[in-house]
Amino acid sequence: ATPTALLVGTGRGAQLGILIKGPEVLESTRRVDTVVLDKTGTVTTGAMEVRGVHTVDGVEEDTALRLAGAVEAASEHPIGRAIAAAAETATGSLPDVAEFESLPGLGVRGVVAELLSKDDAAGAVVAHAVLVGRPALLAEHDIALPPDLAAARDAAEAGGNTAVGVAWDGVARALVVVGDTVKPTSAEAVRELHRLGLTAMLLTGDNGAAARAVAAEVGVAADAVIAEVAPEDKAAVVKRLQAEGKVVAMVGDGVNDAAALAAADLGLAMGTGTDAAIEASDLTLVRGDLLDAVDAIRLSRRTLAVIK
Ligand code: ADP
Ligand code: MG
Repeated sequence: ATPTALLVGTGRGAQLGILIKGPEVLESTRRVDTVVLDKTGTVTTGAMEVRGVHTVDGVEEDTALRLAGAVEAASEHPIGRAIAAAAETATGSLPDVAEFESLPGLGVRGVVAELLSKDDAAGAVVAHAVLVGRPALLAEHDIALPPDLAAARDAAEAGGNTAVGVAWDGVARALVVVGDTVKPTSAEAVRELHRLGLTAMLLTGDNGAAARAVAAEVGVAADAVIAEVAPEDKAAVVKRLQAEGKVVAMVGDGVNDAAALAAADLGLAMGTGTDAAIEASDLTLVRGDLLDAVDAIRLSRRTLAVIK
């Protein structure tokens, strides 16, 4: 029979805004010593906004934003949604994209037929192959950032933002700076995790500088940041920690996080996140508040103390 104390724990969990898959789940939290936090949408709001557009000489900001936005309009990534929205606000309804391709953890590409006043022959609408994504994606296509865009990238990342390169017709022509903000309770939650004797880590596909800036803001140690992890490698990071003898709780919200949430000893999904993350997890934090993750761990400890 299921111990009553565990059921009580489950009921109290629901009151706290924590949904538990089954009472047995709480038992796995007992020995958790490491809490891996996804960055975007978990520690931060995930509500990305465009914070700046840098272009090479001769390219209008709106032109770059519009081409990037046209391709990103087909993307479901928060970065894509932010760029598409900003482009539409700045330049009106966006042109169609052909041959759209989403490159998870990297960016997007597509072909946009658009009249570019500066580049195209007068009156002719030319199809432009557009690539939008992390500078490493552009590098993979042998497209280098010119020095002024590289400097803008460094400044953006040092400030905790994400730099998205925009290339068309094989040349890098712009950099869009996007960012979101740390949730109001994230720093307190990390403090509480530390107070419980747990190690808090930050795991992200985003660049290292932006990840370290967010880590510093919420109190995660610099050596507990794991950045530039491809979506398919997040679960491997969890497994590596487990192989080192750690008992790992993972908190995440994205499709990207699902495999890592399933691999963790305890998976906690943000209720504000994707269905894939919720389905892969043992617990759902309904409010999407990291403090509820602390409560879940505390609650399970108390519940188990009652059983013993
Ligand atoms: P996270 O782990 O922070 O949720 P992802 O793995 O989804 O991040 O993406 C990692 C990085 O890949 C992003 O920080 C961004 O640089 C780039 N990226 C992913 N999708 C897109 C997109 N649609 N447009 C531009 N850049 C993207
Ligand atoms: Mg996320």
